[in-house]
Amino acid sequence: MSRFFSSRYRDLEAYVPGEQPKEMRYIKLNTNESPFPPPASVCEAVAAEALKLPLYPDPECTELRESLAALYGVSKEETFVTNGSDDILNFAFMAFVEPSVGAAFADITYGFYEVFAELHHLPYRKIPLLDDFSLDLDAFKKANEVLFIANPNAPTGIALSVAKIEELIADKPDRMVVIDEAYVEFGAESCLQLLKKYDNLLVVRTFSKSRSLAGGRLGYAFGRPEIIAELNTLKYSMNPYNVNRLTLAAGAEILRLDGVIKENCRQIQLIREKTAKELKDMGFFVTDSLANFLFARHPRLSGEEYYLELKKRGILVRHFSNPRIAEFNRISIGSAEDMDSFCRITREILKTKENTL
Ligand code: PMP
Repeated sequence: MSRFFSSRYRDLEAYVPGEQPKEMRYIKLNTNESPFPPPASVCEAVAAEALKLPLYPDPECTELRESLAALYGVSKEETFVTNGSDDILNFAFMAFVEPSVGAAFADITYGFYEVFAELHHLPYRKIPLLDDFSLDLDAFKKANEVLFIANPNAPTGIALSVAKIEELIADKPDRMVVIDEAYVEFGAESCLQLLKKYDNLLVVRTFSKSRSLAGGRLGYAFGRPEIIAELNTLKYSMNPYNVNRLTLAAGAEILRLDGVIKENCRQIQLIREKTAKELKDMGFFVTDSLANFLFARHPRLSGEEYYLELKKRGILVRHFSNPRIAEFNRISIGSAEDMDSFCRITREILKTKENTL
């Protein structure tokens, strides 16, 4: 560390993204990306927009916000767009977590919540998930902090019903609740409908998972107009042009193809259920995931060993070192062919393991 690095950040432990390998072609099931390429018209829209690269993009992202608002039945003023939903979560920590109140989130959830709290020197508390990895609703209800809840949760994939989330939102009207719906399109219920009733809710979404745009970096959020205006105050205080032209063009075009996206999500769900069944048949415990990934452990294969054996054979999944989930791996749902290869190779690994025991 240089002597110039601010003392404010010296102890910061940065978020560790999943591996993005360059050295070899893996079947990449480690960062919950979509296996479907964007439709050709998205690439055409991006190519056409490239001619306008000398000009700054629209800082208000007007067209995209209008399209999102129309698609989801809210107003443009209730819609916020940024460079990936990580940006929105970052802004939400800055905007809504009072240092005297702090934030609360599950002990097993998206790792960035803790990083953002640390980054902004905000107090936070981790509320342990119950033994079955479901959210401890009573403990969350009692909490006074700003709540950050991934629904479905990551990396477990387990989702809460809207009715349960409503209890949390209704229980303490002066407490802000941020619901991170990065994976909601794969079978869970969205709490967007609650926005009409409650002003203490921010719903965060992304184009990275269901809409094949992880590389484009595009996130969006819905909240009451005053909440969105506050997020904009922060955005305009940092980088008003934080969504680039090419990404705005890709996003606008992909919103026109919502039928294709819905069909892609349906396919992912079918492949997820088939893969979950195969894993269970091989003896794995698999959580009931409503996301585009599975979370699984095997009684006779350690989480780390399984991760390494898959990697040796050209398949990348996500392993976490946190002791509570170290025996698990998170497996993104890829194409039907990729998941067939994944299951076949998993069977081989188990067979080799059993032969050496
Ligand atoms: N929330 C959750 C729960 C996630 O898993 C991710 C992806 N890592 C994000 C938000 C951020 O996604 P993005 O910044 O690509 O929109």
